[in-house]
Amino acid sequence: MEELKSLWEKIISKLEVKVSTVSFELWIKTLELIDFRDNKVLVLGASSTTAKNQLYKNHAEQLKECIAQVFDEGCDFEILDPNEKEDYIKKFKSSIEDSSNFEKDLDKFIFNPKYTFENFVVGKSNQFVYAGARAVAENPGKKFNPLFIYGGVGLGKTHLLHAIGNYISEFYPNLKIKYVTCEKFTNDYIESMLSKREESKVEFREKYRNVDVLMVDDIQFLSKKDSTQEEFFHTFNDLYQNNKQIILSSDRPPKDIATLAERLESRFASGLIQDIQSPDYETRVAILRKKAQQERYFIDDEVIEFIADKINTNIREMEGLLSKVHFFASLLGKKTAGIEEAKEAFKEKFDSTRENLTIDSITDVVCDYFNISKTDIIGKKKSKDIVEPRMIAIYLISEYLDIPLISIGKHFGGRDHTTIIHARDKITDLIKTDEKIKNIVTDLKSLITNS
Ligand code: ADP
Ligand code: MG
Repeated sequence: MEELKSLWEKIISKLEVKVSTVSFELWIKTLELIDFRDNKVLVLGASSTTAKNQLYKNHAEQLKECIAQVFDEGCDFEILDPNEKEDYIKKFKSSIEDSSNFEKDLDKFIFNPKYTFENFVVGKSNQFVYAGARAVAENPGKKFNPLFIYGGVGLGKTHLLHAIGNYISEFYPNLKIKYVTCEKFTNDYIESMLSKREESKVEFREKYRNVDVLMVDDIQFLSKKDSTQEEFFHTFNDLYQNNKQIILSSDRPPKDIATLAERLESRFASGLIQDIQSPDYETRVAILRKKAQQERYFIDDEVIEFIADKINTNIREMEGLLSKVHFFASLLGKKTAGIEEAKEAFKEKFDSTRENLTIDSITDVVCDYFNISKTDIIGKKKSKDIVEPRMIAIYLISEYLDIPLISIGKHFGGRDHTTIIHARDKITDLIKTDEKIKNIVTDLKSLITNS
């Protein structure tokens, strides 16, 4: 049940960014998880009948969407008002309390059944990483160890990890696989350290070392957490020495995760480091077609091309737009979604992204990306490693926000508006001629629109 609770919390936090603060505080936050009936239906308790009705009326779609992201699409939910809750508990109490069942059955939700190799569209941008992942899935612990996959947000890293997991579960049912996000690994570790029970440290080790395949998703988050990092190295070495397969994903190459590279460099030599790049137009179209087919959306080809054209890096974002288009069409009772719905969905997405952006939020993303301080980026330093990020930040701000150049200048330590124009135009030009700058800007844009 604990595991289930943390999954439920994940759903709540996803909802938090989707609904208004008022709705969140009033209706969503007060929802209580009662049961996970037949491993299919999340039974939720609302604080009142009004709350229940409001949730069904205004937030059913969002709830469903977030549940699908955390569990899988087949999962549904049911909201009970306080009276119904009482009846429900009376009727099913024994099964609810038998929580050991939950843990066991939840294992199968660890790998999203949709994230398979078959559902992964292969193109120029990802053919090598696909081949590497497949080779590892077919020969766990024997072929490339560790496998390190890196690439930008929404490009399919998690999908590939799950595909490996699904494959190994099917063809090597005796192998024990553990998949965690870096966040989960860290939390588990911290919890084991803080626990007063002596056994908890041993339990932690057993959990992570007593496996045949360990996957840690988004390992870049390890970078700042010293003691967790230490523990990860021990886990890694232990598994590695026992020929257990290790698979890691990250948004950047190992060399850019400060101490990871140093400490594991020799290990990486025997493994495979593979990057996943942004898909080209044809691959984007193929991915959207596959997705539409999978979800049984009827969508005009024109719409697919429109989306592939508008969004060119983040596949998750493309999929989000596709399902929104489908949703809009279904609201209108149309069987096939057309270009009008696509334009409407895109406009809404664009507006809501812009609404949440500020000079500061964009500057922060740029600072994080280059790992430089805010004081430096707005300050007077003239070294290239600061000037370039500064110009890029200025470019992005003028691209996303409709604010006077003078205000941008003010934000950047009182620079003159001509300096701002110069920076903006310089980057505009560089994007056309300099592949590296172009990629940086693309990365940053996808970070900004997802932050
Ligand atoms: P990441 O972990 O790199 O941020 P995900 O693996 O979560 O990205 O992928 C985001 C979404 O895009 C998922 O729904 C995934 O199924 C889909 N996706 C990514 N790459 C492909 C691909 N090559 N073919 C089909 N779907 C893909
Ligand atoms: Mg991921």
